[in-house]
Amino acid sequence: MISDNIKNVTQRIARSCEKSHRRPEDVRLICVTKEADIIAIEEALGLGITDIGENRVQDALLKYRVIGDRVRWHLIGHLQTNKVRDAVKVFSLIHSVDSIRLAREIDKDARSIKKVQDILVQVNVSGEESKFGLAPGELKGFFKEVSLYPNINILGLMTIAPETDDPQKARPCFKKLRELKDEINSLQLTAYSLKLLSMGMTNDFEIAIEEGSNVVRIGRAIFR
Ligand SMILES: *Cc1c(COP(=O)(O)O)cnc(C)c1O
Repeated sequence: MISDNIKNVTQRIARSCEKSHRRPEDVRLICVTKEADIIAIEEALGLGITDIGENRVQDALLKYRVIGDRVRWHLIGHLQTNKVRDAVKVFSLIHSVDSIRLAREIDKDARSIKKVQDILVQVNVSGEESKFGLAPGELKGFFKEVSLYPNINILGLMTIAPETDDPQKARPCFKKLRELKDEINSLQLTAYSLKLLSMGMTNDFEIAIEEGSNVVRIGRAIFR
């Protein structure tokens, strides 16, 4: 039942917040709908979900035709430059920006529709070959360049932890992302300090919150 699942996830978020002396309203729940159909999504919206996450621009466009602007749309999957024009039309936050080239394209297409696009920078903290994202060492160069782009607003960082049998093993990855955010803020590489840390999925969101996450992206725990 989707309603039971949402209740359960919300309670677990609240408990993790309590444990780490944070307020539950400071952690935003993104309901990941990549494997959900319209009926299931409508049910989630009826239960108070305000933010949904999709992996692929094409899938999001189809759903957007039905759902529209009743929710905020988040792009959480890899973005190819040839999909940017569509992406800036739909998404309020793009979590997966991982190159200067992509950022430049987003800036250009956002400008053409007079939008300032909110983004997060995806970081490959674990260094796994299979993962998208900038290496931590590439961040400084990225920020120096992209923070000057007028039609992009960088709000924070995003990462995907390695898949493990034990969520505790993801903790160092989350901790590292938080440290990277603090480092970028202390170097004042952006006009505004970075606020958002998008980290934590069904298997590991509680650990992520304990390490400072304020955006969790949850699919299976809601729609399974
Ligand atoms: C699918 C996906 C999620 C949600 O994963 P669940 O395990 O279903 O909670 C979160 N983030 C990204 C980038 C995803 O691709």
